[in-house]
Amino acid sequence: MQASAYQNLLEKLSPAGVSLLAVSKTKTADEIRSLYDLGQRDFGENYVQELVEKQALLPGDIRWHFIGHLQTNKVKFIAPFVYMIQSVDSLKLLLEIDKHAAKNQRNIRCLLQMFIAREETKFGLNAAELDSLIFMVNENRMEGKFRHVLISGCMGMASLTDDQKQLRSEFNLLRSGFEKLKAGFPSDPVDTLSMGMSNDYSLAILEGSTMVRIGSLLFGERSVARK
Ligand SMILES: *Cc1c(COP(=O)(O)O)cnc(C)c1O
Repeated sequence: MQASAYQNLLEKLSPAGVSLLAVSKTKTADEIRSLYDLGQRDFGENYVQELVEKQALLPGDIRWHFIGHLQTNKVKFIAPFVYMIQSVDSLKLLLEIDKHAAKNQRNIRCLLQMFIAREETKFGLNAAELDSLIFMVNENRMEGKFRHVLISGCMGMASLTDDQKQLRSEFNLLRSGFEKLKAGFPSDPVDTLSMGMSNDYSLAILEGSTMVRIGSLLFGERSVARK
């Protein structure tokens, strides 16, 4: 990891008020530590076991974000410490997060992941599913459920393409989901629109991103291709 890459990135993000999530999947605790020493506190991981192992080795004031596909039976392993789960794509998963957050006597910030790309392989809710999830959570809250999840915004991954028009329209779709969440959850801290990665973050910022998730631009290319 190069300090200059980090500083350059911050110089682009800070004036726009955009926060940086350093995506540290496949990187070692030492590599994370060197970025931490430069002041970075938000780190993102995709795999539960990898996250649990690194969390145990690193300082307690790191805010860990889970950004990979999350199975309901694994929520319990990260619930004691995770700061934000960015990949919530079903009511069932949200319910499980709520349950384990309550057990740990804490609240967990959640982003709803939307499917905005062309590639079928990516996860997330479509617009209709987002609407129904907003409705269901509000219904259930009247019965006392979902009190330990803070709906904080949404996350999405755009297509792997250089087509700027396509990318902008996908980011725009995510942004409208974000606006829907603000209206749907007036009492939650809906302040995070997590969009943009190493290849497309500049466009994401133009479309209103509040948090970019950057891996390879900070740490260099990953040797193992992992999504
Ligand atoms: C790996 C990953 C990133 C970072 O990707 P880079 O292209 O290395 O910046 C961002 N978001 C998610 C969900 C990821 O899995």
